[in-house]
Amino acid sequence: MDCLFCKIVAGDIPARKLYEDDQVVAFHDIGPQAPVHFLVIPKKHIATLHDLGEEDKALAGHMLFTAQRLAKEQGCEQGFRAVMNCNEDGGQTVYHIHMHVLGKRQLAWPPG
Ligand code: AMP
Ligand code: ZN
Repeated sequence: MDCLFCKIVAGDIPARKLYEDDQVVAFHDIGPQAPVHFLVIPKKHIATLHDLGEEDKALAGHMLFTAQRLAKEQGCEQGFRAVMNCNEDGGQTVYHIHMHVLGKRQLAWPPG
């Protein structure tokens, strides 16, 4: 297994986990870009959003719902951003899909 986030799912690499269930894991980003910055990933290895299949629709919804629930728990009442970077142009660096959740600061739009 050559995937960093699969290793986090397996417990082979430590992470500061916020939440875990049978489908997803959420953990703090190692290089936070905001006071709140965590990632929600599926336990299933899916390399990029391009690889999301029809069968993954419920999983994708569960990731989004988990992001929303944890953002509230982390005190992001004033708002937050949930974003997924896809492939090179999207700025993806880890090829196991993940939803970034950033909050507790004013975020600029559009991103660079
Ligand atoms: P992306 O550029 O969208 O692929 O985002 C990858 C994110 O994973 C970056 O924000 C990294 O800081 C984060 N990251 C990389 N390695 C780790 C790790 N071991 N634990 C937590 N976050 C990580
Ligand atoms: Zn993986």
